[in-house]
Amino acid sequence: MSATATQCFYPSTTSELTALLEQYPEARIMAGGTDLMVLFRSGVLPYPEHLIDISGIASMKEIETADDHLVIGACVTHAALHGSDDVRTWLPGLAQAAMQVGALQIQSMGTIGGNVANASPAGDSLPVLLVCDAEVVLCSAQGERSVPVTSFYLGYRRCDMKPGECIRALRIPKIKPNQSDVFRKLGTRQAQAISKVVSAARFTLNGNKIEHAAIAFGCMAPVPVRLPKTEALLQGRTLDEDTFATAELSINEELHPIGDIRSTKAYRQWVGGRLGRWLCQQICEFQ
Ligand SMILES: Cc1cc2nc3c(=O)[nH]c(=O)nc-3n(C[C@H](O)[C@H](O)[C@H](O)COP(=O)(O)OP(=O)(O)OC[C@H]3O[C@@H](n4cnc5c(N)ncnc54)[C@H](O)[C@@H]3O)c2cc1C
Repeated sequence: MSATATQCFYPSTTSELTALLEQYPEARIMAGGTDLMVLFRSGVLPYPEHLIDISGIASMKEIETADDHLVIGACVTHAALHGSDDVRTWLPGLAQAAMQVGALQIQSMGTIGGNVANASPAGDSLPVLLVCDAEVVLCSAQGERSVPVTSFYLGYRRCDMKPGECIRALRIPKIKPNQSDVFRKLGTRQAQAISKVVSAARFTLNGNKIEHAAIAFGCMAPVPVRLPKTEALLQGRTLDEDTFATAELSINEELHPIGDIRSTKAYRQWVGGRLGRWLCQQICEFQ
């Protein structure tokens, strides 16, 4: 299929979008195009027969704040995320991640919905969404359904999204006063680099004691992963040197990293443990 044969649609409301998706369930959705255009232009992905550009849907660019959660429209850009007082206050880990996605150009065009739907194990927002127990809100002509991010990823670049469905928003629980969020990405350079390893943690504390730990890594496996064994091990422990060492050892054992063009398996294995230690130390310093 050549570029000129692609029929493009520009819905301005979600009802226009879902009607188009019902008519063309196999249509390719485009938000910022920062992932998609690279694939089209390099020939890795053929131009589709039908392309639906969702960047004109105003309601999908909104950030709504409720009592205990935020609903972030799928077309909110990374720049809008870290520019939002609500996101910086209630989801500090996500704001940090958004600030480190690519450079300003990518942050201004690339969206959170695109990052999630792209289902890359190196997507920077994914570990944060995993530790925050976020939900993906999908819309279609049949209505809406929500899927926890923890079960959204089914395999390498595969997610629980059917033809005719689109991500409308992310629903993310706000950080609570006794919680701390941390995010860290490692790449070849300080800025503008796709991650070699990316990680996030949200700890719920009772004084200096860990009531609940959520730790997630990206770039380690075909899908971003939580670490249930380490999380359970940390529960009830005090934030001290012994716990930091336990976290490092346990993460090192629990991770089974992949090797690829950006990093070796051995590097990811070692650095995963070190990063786990760092995440715990950071949370201790926030106390
Ligand atoms: C130079 C460069 C640097 C980059 N650096 C980083 C980085 O540091 N960290 C990082 O995580 N990523 C990075 N990326 C990848 C990319 O910018 C992000 O993943 C971005 O968030 C993608 O959003 P988008 O709106 O541009 O997605 P698009 O390119 O529009 O779409 C990406 C995929 O998601 C689908 N899609 C988009 N929106 C939706 C939706 N609402 N519902 C269903 N499907 C949808 C599309 O069909 C497509 O398959 C980089 C890319 C480039 C080119």
